[in-house]
Amino acid sequence: MTVARILAEKGRSVVTVEPQRNLAEAIHLLAEKRIGAVVVCETGGTLRGILSERDIMRALAEKGAAALDALVHEHMTASVTTCTRETGVEEVMQLMTQGRFRHVPVLEDGHLAGLISIGDVVKRRIEAVEAEHRAMRDYITMA
Ligand code: AMP
Repeated sequence: MTVARILAEKGRSVVTVEPQRNLAEAIHLLAEKRIGAVVVCETGGTLRGILSERDIMRALAEKGAAALDALVHEHMTASVTTCTRETGVEEVMQLMTQGRFRHVPVLEDGHLAGLISIGDVVKRRIEAVEAEHRAMRDYITMA
């Protein structure tokens, strides 16, 4: 299964934040949208980084409440691992495991075209395993 198939089901919309916003604004966005990471983009849409709840926790541990005024670009990860619509789900799982992150933005012609989270990957993996299990059971009971 490819990333394109997941996006066809979940949609292509991605919650983004500008690099000059502060962490308090980013936290509000994460809470309001009930998500764990925001993709950092310039107004024109150029990808600049990713900011996850882990980055915010680290900033709070370092700076205390003053972290809320810090800017997103000061705490985001600038070197973002991305995939394309053609990337396979297995490969996305490998990227997440090797990089120890739970979010992978999808790029198409250099533009943001969606985001795959570990939840999306696990859901499809469970569905695939259940389908295999059903097929095996049907095969055995028919024999
Ligand atoms: P996460 O597990 O996605 O909440 O992120 C854990 C750490 O990895 C944080 O420091 C994120 O900024 C960073 N991170 C998340 N996604 C990516 C990604 N696709 N590429 C590079 N770093 C990432």
